[in-house]
Amino acid sequence: THKEIGWNFDNSYARLPESFFKRIEPAPVHSPELVILNKSFAKSLGLNVKNLESKAGIEVLAGNQVPEGALPIAQAYAGHQFGHFTMLGDGRAVLLGEQITPTEERIDIQLKGSGRTPFSRGGDGRATLGPMLREYIISEAMHALGIPTNRSLSVVTTGESVIRETMLPGAILTRAAASHLRIGTFEYAAKWGSAEEIRILADYAIKRHFPDMEDNEDRYLSLFHEVVDRQSALIAKWQLVGFIHGVMNTDNMTISGETIDYGPCAFMDEYDPATVFSSIDMQGRYAYQNQPAIGQWNLARFAETLLPLLHEKQEHAVELAQEALSTYEHLYHSHWLAGMRGKLGIQNEEEEDKTLIEDLLRIMEKHHADFTNTFRALTLDKLEDTPMNGTVEFTHWYEQWQKRLSRQEKSKTSACQLMKKSNPAIIPRNHRVEEALEAAVKKGDYSVMEQLIDVLSNPYAYSPEQEEYTKLPEPSSRPYVTFCGT
Ligand code: AMP
Ligand code: MG
Ligand code: MG
Repeated sequence: THKEIGWNFDNSYARLPESFFKRIEPAPVHSPELVILNKSFAKSLGLNVKNLESKAGIEVLAGNQVPEGALPIAQAYAGHQFGHFTMLGDGRAVLLGEQITPTEERIDIQLKGSGRTPFSRGGDGRATLGPMLREYIISEAMHALGIPTNRSLSVVTTGESVIRETMLPGAILTRAAASHLRIGTFEYAAKWGSAEEIRILADYAIKRHFPDMEDNEDRYLSLFHEVVDRQSALIAKWQLVGFIHGVMNTDNMTISGETIDYGPCAFMDEYDPATVFSSIDMQGRYAYQNQPAIGQWNLARFAETLLPLLHEKQEHAVELAQEALSTYEHLYHSHWLAGMRGKLGIQNEEEEDKTLIEDLLRIMEKHHADFTNTFRALTLDKLEDTPMNGTVEFTHWYEQWQKRLSRQEKSKTSACQLMKKSNPAIIPRNHRVEEALEAAVKKGDYSVMEQLIDVLSNPYAYSPEQEEYTKLPEPSSRPYVTFCGT
């Protein structure tokens, strides 16, 4: 039974006013098969792996059976997509409920690709195998990198074909998140809900994510401040590993500060701040170098929704919101700078550190140096691995850096340890991810992917078997392009 699997649902979101969701049933699929299960994560959720892998367990992950205690819904939300406001909502996802874990955490369990909903518009509500596996690989890699993210529990194939440009195998991803509250959820309430509904939503977000501020008189301002801090910290972490989200629309930005929506995302190889991967991002709005500023733009949209809660007088509310929003730049910069210092083994602070960092980045850009491998080479002191090696400017920079390191009390070994913790030896390189997906989707061979997931689960290990995964792709004539996760 579902109790034996370990499902232990509560449904606090479904107790919000009716306008925030639609009750739905996941649409059954023909012949589900489990192709990947995150066993360690399942255990931490309080799930029994053996029973989850059984036929009854898989029926739940496929949406064919609704487990006891779950109350399936599609969530309503709006969002600014590439700058334009629009109504959205879960068009191909169902929230089963919130799993209460053995440590009393409350985790959203959502099936993605589970069929049409009242928010599907023209879409079929389905997802295909490649993109669901891709989301699984990258979200788990992000988690291992220490970056807040939703997690992936499983992927099942449906035994049904999905029509895209061609017929593709259908799949359902089970993802888990601290919540799926988005800036877009607030935009939805602000646009179509009553004043009372915005307050209810804000109180819900506070209770769920920031319970410490529940009794504060100015808790809505605190809520905004806290989200500003979490988003600035999150985006700094993306920058520090070269992660490009690709579709930073307000409906894809969470209140919890977790990364969600791994559609067209990718990691940059060669350092170029203008890098864009997504085929739909023609203007480069969500290029690597724009991510921090877009984060602030999105938070401004969030602030607008909170104005009626901040002060009864509109002009005071705007003032408060602007003041809070203006802390973003400084917060982002300090998160980024602290992270960059770590990447260079710097343990104390000096005014000139920023220049030292920017100089390095400029040299990397000029010489088309790989982002991850450059920091790995500095960490291992294997400079022969970088294309900048031997150039006058890099040699000069290196001297400056060594001098800088000598101006701190901590030893060389401790600087090196800090660098190993701050610079992943490996990231999910696009060509390795593609190779794993190709084997899985075209040949039904999941071993390549399992091995990739395994090495990515310990990115700071600097172990010999990772060596192979640090290699760059063969130079190709076409730049790497991602397509929205379909
Ligand atoms: P995204 O770009 O992934 O953030 O998705 C934007 C919106 O499109 C969300 O409301 C999704 O639920 C919806 N959507 C994406 N693909 C489909 C699909 N195949 N069927 C229905 N809705 C979809
Ligand atoms: Mg989305
Ligand atoms: Mg998506």
